[in-house]
Amino acid sequence: MAEFTVVLPSGRSWTPRYAQSINESKCIGCGRCFRVCGREVLQLVGVDEEGKRIAVSADPDDDDAEYEKKVMTIVNPENCVGCEACMRICPKKCYTHAPAEA
Ligand code: SF4
Ligand code: SF4
Repeated sequence: MAEFTVVLPSGRSWTPRYAQSINESKCIGCGRCFRVCGREVLQLVGVDEEGKRIAVSADPDDDDAEYEKKVMTIVNPENCVGCEACMRICPKKCYTHAPAEA
């Protein structure tokens, strides 16, 4: 099946690559990807000792003492426009992106 592509005003064709997954074992919860995404696709969550998850602020100054770690999650994949800004800013190469099928 063909990949979904967009024709830009310049006439060039562009293939959006949508956020598919985040490797939580590599993620350090830095929040950089959250800050560049303008589509409310992502949510930072705190993970406690028992693996329980609670949404937390992406502000690094917030108290995170009650969590073992923070990880970024994809909560609204339908909002993703496939710009890959999150992948480019991620220092840990956590993201997997893929084109949609047309
Ligand atoms: S690809 Fe773009 S729209 Fe999609 S999650 Fe990443 S920054 Fe947001
Ligand atoms: S930029 Fe990468 S390491 Fe930082 S929160 Fe996002 S996925 Fe995790």
